[in-house]
Amino acid sequence: MKDDKRKETTGRKYNFVTPSVDGYYGDFGGSYIPEILHRCVEELRQSYRTIIDSQEFRTEYHALLRDYVGRPSPLYLARRMSEKYGCRLYLKREDLNHTGAHKINNTVGQILLARKMGKRRIIAETGAGQHGVATATVCALMGMECEIFMGKTDVERQHVNVERMKMLGATVHPVTTGNMTLSDACSAAIRDWCCHPQDTFYIVGSTMGPHPYPDIVARMQSIISEEIKQQLQEKEGRDYPDTLIACIGGGSNAAGTIYHYADDSRVRIILAEAGGEGIASGHTAATFHCGTPGILHGSRMLVMQNDDGQIEEAFSISAGLDYPGVGPMHCNMVAEGRTTVLAVNDDAAIRAGYELTRMEGIIPAIESAHAIAVLPKLQFRPGEVVVLTVSGRGDKDIETYLNNAPY
Ligand SMILES: *Cc1c(COP(=O)(O)O)cnc(C)c1O
Repeated sequence: MKDDKRKETTGRKYNFVTPSVDGYYGDFGGSYIPEILHRCVEELRQSYRTIIDSQEFRTEYHALLRDYVGRPSPLYLARRMSEKYGCRLYLKREDLNHTGAHKINNTVGQILLARKMGKRRIIAETGAGQHGVATATVCALMGMECEIFMGKTDVERQHVNVERMKMLGATVHPVTTGNMTLSDACSAAIRDWCCHPQDTFYIVGSTMGPHPYPDIVARMQSIISEEIKQQLQEKEGRDYPDTLIACIGGGSNAAGTIYHYADDSRVRIILAEAGGEGIASGHTAATFHCGTPGILHGSRMLVMQNDDGQIEEAFSISAGLDYPGVGPMHCNMVAEGRTTVLAVNDDAAIRAGYELTRMEGIIPAIESAHAIAVLPKLQFRPGEVVVLTVSGRGDKDIETYLNNAPY
């Protein structure tokens, strides 16, 4: 949806990661929802902070992160890559989490929130199926009913993840509207929520959706930078890096990576978005380069849309970065000049994935490979400390790597 009006800002002082009471990060965010959802979004808005700040929640959340997810994830000094790029390159290993990516940090937290709010039925959207699997996993863990909305195109492309979700006990609904991909799955999940506002909790998979979802997801993922602080203190004798690097689709692993450094001007923030076949090719998911402000899935953010405000299909070799919008917190940080976003094309991401594999013995998710691919584009001071988040492991992408092998 096109939206040329800029939200009146009150001149209130905010920090980058904390939205205003009504969910704005500068001009982005907010809560644009159908009337029927107003009550449950309002209920969530009023209770989420109290619940997730409570000692009971924190104890259970951290116990699950430790014993179930396998945290803290290691911060690994990649020696050969460091030498190549002339910096001290640390990899934050979210690929080693249970289910293979950072997404589980968020689903573990949101299911505890859902349970505390007395909800019994869980719904979620998924694109590649990673968030669907992470959601189905925690539903199995908690014995909750789980319904996943997934574009029919993606159901066909991501067969293994569909089988994983089914094995975990979830029902997968193929969505046949629009392009039958992630964006349509989000819309279908929102429609389902409208039909069952009382008993259903919608577990949103990234820092998007109506307020308070972007804030909830960012807080759940903020464990990443909380650990980076401690780990850098141990390894480098100071708790901040010079540069942070992450890939960005909706923005959740990036939000987690930067959360505790967003207002620390000593730390440079670089994000890698999916250029697809190139930002001028028409086949791209580079929302920061090609998007304009608009409203999508309940929030004001940068959106790839045509002149009539119709959403354009995102295109990337990486299913996890294939979303036509990007979370409001990041939109604001980029607008304010705090964050730099580089677009990485499919072929560069594939090469970077092979490079990490051959130089460090780590096969990254193709999403994470986009973050690796910005290394040759950056300048580093000698001894510069760089932390790069490897958001997921590449097992799911082996076929993609093989079909596009640069060797
Ligand atoms: C889903 C996914 C992403 C993109 O989502 P964000 O919310 O931007 O983090 C990145 N990497 C992996 C491995 C994913 O599964």
